Amino acid sequence: MMLACREMTELTTDYLERQLSWWDRMRFLMHIGMCGACWEYVRGMKAVLANFHRIGTEVVPPEVPPELFDRFRNWKR
Ligand SMILES: [Zn+2]
Repeated sequence: MMLACREMTELTTDYLERQLSWWDRMRFLMHIGMCGACWEYVRGMKAVLANFHRIGTEVVPPEVPPELFDRFRNWKR
């Protein structure tokens, strides 16, 4: 079963923090292998998370494009 893009947004944080089960990780990787939009999304979130961990704050770093967060919010809806 292919994951929906909406589910991908929910799994991205878990994936980046290595919280996914083996099977979920496989499905996740299968999806970003085939879906350019989600691949870009995961890449963007990875950069965002790296910044969060480095500066240890919830503040969005200025170099993160705001459209990334718009996209994230839209997909959450
Ligand atoms: Zn997708």
